[in-house]
Amino acid sequence: MKASSILGMLAAAMAGMASAAEPAPIAIAVHGGAGTISRELMTPQREQAFRTKLEEAIRAGHGVLTAGGTSLEAVTRAIRILEDSPLFNAGKGAVFNAAGQNELDASIMDGASLDAGAVAAVHRVRNPIDLALRVMTHSKHVMLIGEGAEQFAREQGFELVDPGYFHTEDRWQELQAAKARELTRHRDPEKWLSTVGAVALDRAGNLAAGTSTGGLTNKRWGRVGDSPIIGAGTYANNDSCAVSATGTGEFFIRHVVAHSICVRVAGGEDVASAANAMVNEVLAAAGGDGGVIAMDGKGNIAMPHNTPGMHRASIDRNEVLFVGIYRDEP
Ligand code: ASP
Repeated sequence: MKASSILGMLAAAMAGMASAAEPAPIAIAVHGGAGTISRELMTPQREQAFRTKLEEAIRAGHGVLTAGGTSLEAVTRAIRILEDSPLFNAGKGAVFNAAGQNELDASIMDGASLDAGAVAAVHRVRNPIDLALRVMTHSKHVMLIGEGAEQFAREQGFELVDPGYFHTEDRWQELQAAKARELTRHRDPEKWLSTVGAVALDRAGNLAAGTSTGGLTNKRWGRVGDSPIIGAGTYANNDSCAVSATGTGEFFIRHVVAHSICVRVAGGEDVASAANAMVNEVLAAAGGDGGVIAMDGKGNIAMPHNTPGMHRASIDRNEVLFVGIYRDEP
């Protein structure tokens, strides 16, 4: 055998050993909304229910990644679980607008191609994140809204649900309370923004981000927040980071929060300080409440929020699981 081919075989074997010792990192994070979530306002049962559902979603998303699935698949898998739970303000647990309707928004972005899909103001789509993905993969557009989005869903073979599917008594009572406060001009004592989102890094090194929401309780009919707006509530670019946001959407739109974090990362800032600066400096100074989950191309995760709590969970590149609700959890 020639010396060069022996050398070649040796090099290939060493490369194999290196990759066996250190596989490309995978990581995932999810949020279930930020807000004035404090221990005093939470019952132990409710807290446990949130933690259990967040863990189920993060484990499911991580399972997709360990099985070799893409970050887009992991993000949609995790978000779908949260959309199907009445605990979160997305899908089944969506809040009501001022007209007494559940009006849903969602978006998703592929950090490898910068392809993106979004839907806004849909009333009959059980899992809006799936439709956002379909807009990305099966249309030449980025965002479809209202009846046009639902017609597209029908054409794509989605089974539409009766709008009554989204009615939950808790959310209905929240709307009544919000309307009463509006009449009496009382401040909102307990503001929960339990929108859901996910960011993930797959073995191929691709980032993805997605977000899904019912928006804000008592929002005007037709109001669209940041969640379906690429750059505001959702953004992913392999060259910088992936971000999903939760909070009062108007502020996230004005400050293009998700994209701004990625611009900072592209400029050399680490993902933790970039996300923290946008949430705790820029947004906080503007009076915008909320938080983000952000992940860079190495799987580093940041989950800053300027509210007392944010439902969140992650499985990092070292396979360490974290589930948190309150600010004082690490
Ligand atoms: N960002 C969402 C919106 O403004 C609300 C939320 O995060 O809960 O529609």
